Amino acid sequence: MSAILHIALGGNRRHGRFGAPPAVLAAAVAALDAAGLPVVARSTVHATPPLGPRQRRFANAVVAVATDLPLPTVLARLQAIEVAFGRRRGRRWGARVLDLDLIAAGLIVTPVRPLRAAARGLIVPHRALADRRFVLDPLIEIASGWRHPVLHLTARQLHARLRRPRPSAAKSP
Ligand code: ATP
Ligand code: CA
Ligand code: CA
Repeated sequence: MSAILHIALGGNRRHGRFGAPPAVLAAAVAALDAAGLPVVARSTVHATPPLGPRQRRFANAVVAVATDLPLPTVLARLQAIEVAFGRRRGRRWGARVLDLDLIAAGLIVTPVRPLRAAARGLIVPHRALADRRFVLDPLIEIASGWRHPVLHLTARQLHARLRRPRPSAAKSP
């Protein structure tokens, strides 16, 4: 039986052929299938406000793929798709046609210590998963019961936690 991986898709730039970001994400789903990463579930596409004043808003979605490929191979395929969609590397947070992040691989947790040495090492669950509405909003549509193997909270619980204002340390007894 194949493992189920969850992949976050995002983009805020038009693609010459595919068009606006939501259409880019639809094309990316087809590209995942074509790359041997069959998409077995997909969220709706969410519009996310831009991170900076001069940016366009993002389209975000999450899909589930079923595969037995090793995780580094999966990441390499995601990066190849990003490049095929015109992504230029080295521009973190900036405008991009397509960003594909491997956010979760079931119960798998990558060993952190050896990977710290390798600057481009793969980390799952994705480090920022629990802090990002633009990931958790679509994730709960297709995997609300998935449990974060380090935080021991389900996607639904992570989502609820993010929506609550955090009590400040100063106020706690
Ligand atoms: P963020 O990771 O905060 O969402 P980003 O997606 O803009 O930022 P990138 O420039 O796309 O960052 O990727 C930075 C590096 O993160 C890549 O070189 C990649 O190897 C590494 N990386 C580590 N873990 C993951 C993961 N789970 N999914 C995708 N990339 C990862
Ligand atoms: Ca990202
Ligand atoms: Ca990325």
